[in-house]
Amino acid sequence: MSDEHTASAPGDEFWSLRPRPRPTPFTEPFWQATSEGRLVVQRCGACRNWRWPPQLACPECLSEVGDWVDTAGTGTVYSYSVVHRGVDRTRFPRRYVLAIVELDEGIHLLTNLVGCDPSDISIGSRVRVAFRHLDEDHTVYPFTLIDA
Ligand SMILES: [Zn+2]
Repeated sequence: MSDEHTASAPGDEFWSLRPRPRPTPFTEPFWQATSEGRLVVQRCGACRNWRWPPQLACPECLSEVGDWVDTAGTGTVYSYSVVHRGVDRTRFPRRYVLAIVELDEGIHLLTNLVGCDPSDISIGSRVRVAFRHLDEDHTVYPFTLIDA
């Protein structure tokens, strides 16, 4: 793949400039899990409904009881866009792929697709999480095509 066609495989510059997640006490378990290579989602302790994004109470039954549960880290591309010019060129200087991935558990995550040629991406493509350690305190959760 030539550099102009690998927009979704950004180099170190992209990752070094990328804004860092800012965990709150409420989202800390999610970010701690990513640093351990696990993609977790809240699940209601009463009705077992998945909760994403993290929230205090279940939108189905209003229970505040819940657990952080490991997902398989696999899913399909629900939607995507190749961003040619980010709104903040100092932090997103290269083209990249923004996507909504539907996890096999049914949750929709906003993420990036990396390590693949954008022309190989289709709605419904199978993907898996490909954790990226930005530094010792921050790990993000881009996805990559399976069998790309
Ligand atoms: Zn519930």
